[in-house]
Amino acid sequence: MFSAEAKKQISTILKRYPIKASALLPLLNLAQEEEGSVSEDSMREIAKLLDLTPPKVYEVATFYTMLNLKPIGRFHLQVCKSLMCALGGSETLLQWIYKELGIKPGETTQDGMFTLSTVECLASCGTAPMMQVNNDYFERLTHEKVRQIFEDLRTAGKCLLATGPFRWPEPVGLMTAFERVLLKNMDMPGYSGSLKDYEGAGGYKAIQAVLGKMKPGDLIDIVKRSGLRGRGGAGFPTGVKWGFIPKDSPGSKYLCCNADESEPGTFKDRQLIERDPHQMLEGVILGCYAIGAKVSYIYIRGEFILGAKILEKALAEAYKAGYLGMNILGSGFDLDVYVHRGAGAYICGEETALLESLEGKRGKPRTKPPFPAISGLYGKPTVINNVETLSNIPHIVNRGPEWFMSIGSPPKSPGTRIFSLSGHIARPGNYEVPMGITIREMLEDCGGGMRDGKKLKAIIPGGASAAFLTEKHLDAKLDFEGIANAESMLGSGAITFMNEDTCMVWAAERLLEFFHHESCGKCTPCREGSMWLLQILHRIESGQGRNEDLDLLSRLCGNITGQTVCAFGDAEIAPIISTLKHFRHEYEAHIRDGHCPYRSKHVALVGIGTS
Ligand code: SF4
Repeated sequence: MFSAEAKKQISTILKRYPIKASALLPLLNLAQEEEGSVSEDSMREIAKLLDLTPPKVYEVATFYTMLNLKPIGRFHLQVCKSLMCALGGSETLLQWIYKELGIKPGETTQDGMFTLSTVECLASCGTAPMMQVNNDYFERLTHEKVRQIFEDLRTAGKCLLATGPFRWPEPVGLMTAFERVLLKNMDMPGYSGSLKDYEGAGGYKAIQAVLGKMKPGDLIDIVKRSGLRGRGGAGFPTGVKWGFIPKDSPGSKYLCCNADESEPGTFKDRQLIERDPHQMLEGVILGCYAIGAKVSYIYIRGEFILGAKILEKALAEAYKAGYLGMNILGSGFDLDVYVHRGAGAYICGEETALLESLEGKRGKPRTKPPFPAISGLYGKPTVINNVETLSNIPHIVNRGPEWFMSIGSPPKSPGTRIFSLSGHIARPGNYEVPMGITIREMLEDCGGGMRDGKKLKAIIPGGASAAFLTEKHLDAKLDFEGIANAESMLGSGAITFMNEDTCMVWAAERLLEFFHHESCGKCTPCREGSMWLLQILHRIESGQGRNEDLDLLSRLCGNITGQTVCAFGDAEIAPIISTLKHFRHEYEAHIRDGHCPYRSKHVALVGIGTS
């Protein structure tokens, strides 16, 4: 049951939304913060506060994986097991934790101190392997670090090791040849991301030039002429999206910032939020001005607790400075921006699922049309833009659309892109370069080449939803067309490199485990298909495969593609179709020999990362 302090927070939370149900996830998160889990009593109390039925609250609570509906230990150890962390040794790490604590995932130690869970991608792929302990991320784990964490938790009741925001190594090689735009501020010595620092770096000049001085339609035109395309995955032109919002529609309009970064391999938005939050906020303000929105929600994934805190602080600073609120900078433009935390559901990164979640429902994608520009949040015209997309807007305003169009691969892929590099390379991390450099340049110059002298075997060029490529594609250009020509997609800009010891059946199986776990369950082909695909992959990988399994996999994939409400269905089959295409011989070897030929090699040892 809520404390007096929580009750004060609840009245503030309720004021953020036009309908009470939207406060459901914030209140469930609050209940969990207070009690460590969400009890039936809390759900009943929340139902009463929001005029919902208790079954409705329960229905929503059971959708989101971060919500513990049963009591857990004092410290919740959540080890990421997605492919990128698995390449960094998370399987070995888990085995070691089983031995050290004597518990398996879902279990709690007898003294009630630790509960162990495995979780899917936590946007920490460049610092794998990692685990989250209650609210904190611990990255680049080694046996020694984990031992130290357990020791600290037992003796001091808290971890003494430093947590984020994580700082990447200094730029080298190719990275120094280009001007970085979005990561420029945070590379300055001592840059903290505070309002003062952002203003010192020229921040909030764009809104001064635009608000009350430029017509919203002119701002949309600038963004259209820049050629900026969405950086979340789909690559839709941002200005065109803004232009879809009906100008003369009466009533509210909304801009939602999609900060639900969950695509395995991707960890750039987290860095933008934690290290330079005002850059993104300025983009939110400009976007709202362009479409006439007076309220904006930043939907941030539930696990980004540090990021949410940093954003709340940045919002408070922006309100105090008069960049948010009523009559911003005397322009007559009013805007309120709120942070809304999710609670663990990859699918809420899909724009209509995000809206459903914001309305206090299970995050299940809507059937389109109508598109959000016509009927979005609360049935009103809505734009949903990604963090990196919005962070580009102030720069386009300050330097002009021609400047943006002159960078990268114009006219279809202008601008820089932040690529998140992970896997078996020497220097994983986020690298901002102009679009159009090749995968080879990215690997060798930014990523420092393959680690330990191993050969490259496979590349995932755009997050888990992108088809695998091979070393034959190293000269493909990293822009929307270049990767599409190689029969994959640029997606979220997350590139994972796998070495010669990696089993491709195992890699596909790991990704299918993710997709099966994250399917919202709305469509039968996706929900049931992912389960059957996973079972067949598991059978093959464990050496029990049958000769007919490869055709069965292909047929099942064919029955999913194009048959689902959202693009998730097509995404989940991409790893299978592409590994069957490029590495069929590996599947055949598993079936022929009755075991995985790579099993003893591909699971890297914990401690491969630097400290
Ligand atoms: Fe849900 Fe999958 Fe259907 Fe998308 S494709 S709506 S994730 S079941």
